[in-house]
Amino acid sequence: MPELPEVEVVRRGLEAHVVGRRIDRVDVLHPRPVRRHLAGALDFAALTTGRTVLGARRRGKYLWLPLDSGDAVLAHLGMSGQMLVQPAAAVDERHLRVRFALAPATPADEPLELRFVDQRMFGGLSVSPGGADLPPEIAHIARDPMDPLFDDDAFVARVRRRRSGIKRILLDQTVVSGVGNIYADEALWRARLHGDRLGTKLRAADVRRVLDEVRTVMAAALLEGGTSFDALYVNVNGQSGYFDRSLHAYGQEGLPCDRCGTPIRRVAFTNRSSFFCPVCQPVPRVRRTSATGSGTSPS
Ligand SMILES: [Zn+2]
Repeated sequence: MPELPEVEVVRRGLEAHVVGRRIDRVDVLHPRPVRRHLAGALDFAALTTGRTVLGARRRGKYLWLPLDSGDAVLAHLGMSGQMLVQPAAAVDERHLRVRFALAPATPADEPLELRFVDQRMFGGLSVSPGGADLPPEIAHIARDPMDPLFDDDAFVARVRRRRSGIKRILLDQTVVSGVGNIYADEALWRARLHGDRLGTKLRAADVRRVLDEVRTVMAAALLEGGTSFDALYVNVNGQSGYFDRSLHAYGQEGLPCDRCGTPIRRVAFTNRSSFFCPVCQPVPRVRRTSATGSGTSPS
């Protein structure tokens, strides 16, 4: 699944190649990707055809394209969604679902298409009425740590009021968006904190360190993914080179910790896994008086 840095790479590609262009024609080739547009595919096409794209914006893993109508095309890539900018003459992709034919910006320009390609179709597109500034559908989603308007102090205060594990808090999209399982595990390894450490038990400096490390991990991934967005072909496939080369915790079960050599451990976390170094990131002790403790707690 694409994580925030990959989605940001897509946003930058859209900003470079789609903003300022008018949508001349829209073909919805499969109904499923526009299922969240309740008025249907024809309405989706009617609201977008003839409109000019004014920007390419992002909140967490959602992208939106503000249109000159005041509406916005809201997009989520899901597990396998791609936004490709292709010459109109390029052969259709096998899993092409929605095509936007874009008017040339100048007469000398090559006609381009914005193509939503999605094999598994967990992603999708919809028109958000009046959503150009911020689609109401995603207004509840917190800013992400790469957002220039992210409020560090408010984040630290919020985390320290929560009686949940820091990893769970990092994955809560209403507190901070865009931090997926991989980035959470990597940032916690770098910050030397176990994901079960309660927000209420963390010092402000600990929370700031985690936030710094989340940014470090995301910036590194952005750098890797960023190499491809100069090309016309704007791609996201959920696999950035970063994942192969720079991981210290995620997916490293049994391999020696890059800091201390202790084998990395894996434990179940909701329906996924958490990876951590048991020495660098000691499991927090369950206090006998704690109501949130495990089975060893008498309460
Ligand atoms: Zn270690």
